[in-house]
Amino acid sequence: MFHRAREGMVMTEKKLVTVTFPDGRSATYPQGTLISAVNGTQADDGSLPIAAVLNGTPVDLSTPVADDVKLEYIYPDSPQGEDIIRHSTSHIMAEAVQQLYPGAKITIGPSIENGFYYDFDYERPFTPEDLEKIEGRMREIIAANSPITRAVLSKEEALTLYKEKNEPYKVEIIREIEDDHITVYSQGSFTDLCRGPHLPSTGMARAFKLTSVAGAYWRGNEKNKMLQRIYGTAFATGEKLENHLTFLEEARKRDHRKLGKELDLFSIHDEVGAGLIIYHPKGALLRRILEDFEVREHLKRGYHLVKGPQILKVDMWQKSGHLDNYRDYMYFTEVEGQKYGLKPMNCLAHMLIYGSKIRSYRDLPLRYFELGTVHRHERAGVLHGLPRVREFTQDDAHILCTPDQLDGEIKGIIDFIAEVMKIFNFDFEMELSTRPAKSIGSDADWNRATEALTRVLQQNSLPFRIHEGEGAFYGPKIDVTLKDVLDRKWQCATIQCDFSLPERFDLSYMGPDGGRHRPVMLHRVILGSLERFLGVLIEHYAGAFPTWLAPVQAIVLTITEKHNAFAEEVFKELLSNGIRVEKDLRNESLKLKIREAQLQKIPYMLVIGDKEVASGGVSPRTRSGKDLKFMPLNDFIALIAQEARFPS
Ligand SMILES: [Zn+2]
Ligand SMILES: [Zn+2]
Repeated sequence: MFHRAREGMVMTEKKLVTVTFPDGRSATYPQGTLISAVNGTQADDGSLPIAAVLNGTPVDLSTPVADDVKLEYIYPDSPQGEDIIRHSTSHIMAEAVQQLYPGAKITIGPSIENGFYYDFDYERPFTPEDLEKIEGRMREIIAANSPITRAVLSKEEALTLYKEKNEPYKVEIIREIEDDHITVYSQGSFTDLCRGPHLPSTGMARAFKLTSVAGAYWRGNEKNKMLQRIYGTAFATGEKLENHLTFLEEARKRDHRKLGKELDLFSIHDEVGAGLIIYHPKGALLRRILEDFEVREHLKRGYHLVKGPQILKVDMWQKSGHLDNYRDYMYFTEVEGQKYGLKPMNCLAHMLIYGSKIRSYRDLPLRYFELGTVHRHERAGVLHGLPRVREFTQDDAHILCTPDQLDGEIKGIIDFIAEVMKIFNFDFEMELSTRPAKSIGSDADWNRATEALTRVLQQNSLPFRIHEGEGAFYGPKIDVTLKDVLDRKWQCATIQCDFSLPERFDLSYMGPDGGRHRPVMLHRVILGSLERFLGVLIEHYAGAFPTWLAPVQAIVLTITEKHNAFAEEVFKELLSNGIRVEKDLRNESLKLKIREAQLQKIPYMLVIGDKEVASGGVSPRTRSGKDLKFMPLNDFIALIAQEARFPS
């Protein structure tokens, strides 16, 4: 009786708390009201929230309101909402996997851009058929609409729980958690360690698809066990999922590794080494065309072509600061008792060229350009096709100038980048990266360099973002990211200020005052790594390069053997006019020859039949299937020569 009275008293005394919404509206509720019970939760489009942000912290809808709070709902069709959907879908996938494949151990399952993954330790790799089965079971779990509940355990309780469940990876993770409050989320019989927040129930996940499976080392370390990573994608609506799947399909068709093989451009061999590219004839030619384009563009802009050696004495790398700051990425070799470092950057030889003479302010700026091949020891786990390799060539230049010329030089580089990106139809974005924790040089130098880069961007009204602490160890930089035809972003150009190398190499010039002054240096690339850029170009054009860039620009096809003699003549005539041409004189059907040439994405096909032989001309056909009318051979040569010219 006494107890009941007290309880009753507490009830009537229950405090009211004020909930304030982002629009400034507020309302009062009894303390302890669940967020899900707070009124006015429906969005304009009628959708219900799936989580909330309470005083700035994302929480579950089942969280009670304990005090006066600022409350903002998270709706499914928002970046935060989709993140929660993706993460919750990864839990649903893990539950499905454990139901279907007893013995599969769970590890971690985060949300990622456009999707999620979960890593499992299982006795064998999962197959595409497994993924279908897992998807089916996930749909059952979603249909069951089980509540997803949160619980707080002590570290001891959490350890006991996962030891009982025989989940060694979870036990390992819990052991490393410092906090004694460990949150777990349960749905049905499945419980996962997690900070949340999560969907209130499994039924709120809907539009998802499992996309692929890949090996992944536990904790990304190749010394650990290889796990099975299942990737999935999930969205707030079926329509968004469909759009994304279409995008993935398009990206798959354009994959440079797939096209690189089909177009016979390049290969990578385990027996040669990871991250090392072998260019086949058409790939090497494509690369050479790009290099010629680069040389032309640089000479036009007052750069000097230079070239340094692949290996330099280790003392040089000591002097430049690379040994202290970049050693882990470098390869070393020893010859006649002398240690050498294989160059990971092209700067040093350029410093020596500058230092080989007395320089006057009248000589500056000096712009040294090199298609410089470098070697960097990237971890095996990050190597991927052409974009991430261990040997690559940069379109690298070093500009040495007076402090007064710095702004003009930076502007010149930005214009150069914009002009080149336009040729390839790329949009681009810029980011300014500032001083990192591990760096060399004085505060004053860092400030001067950062200010110069910022000033040029601002004075030219160029939009940019700032990446604090992401600069190179020797100076701040502007990074340029290009956007390809599928709107994917790729790192290409960089402009890096360096006040340190000229100091270390004691570079100087005579000023108008007759005194010695220190030049300022810029490191810069326009396309960046040619390997990466080629990979991007292959995907951007889906292998159908514009005529000026296409390694094969035209192919001569015969209908029957009696047309071979004239076909040979046409072939030779094109070749002698500098057209990159192939011939297909095989005794195969014309249909097959055309189909193969189309798959090779050759811009022009020249079919040679009776009419062409009789009239001494060609009937060109484009790779997109357009038939041009019969024309004299010289007319075709004029037409293709026009398209084959460098674009600027
Ligand atoms: Zn979770
Ligand atoms: Zn450099």
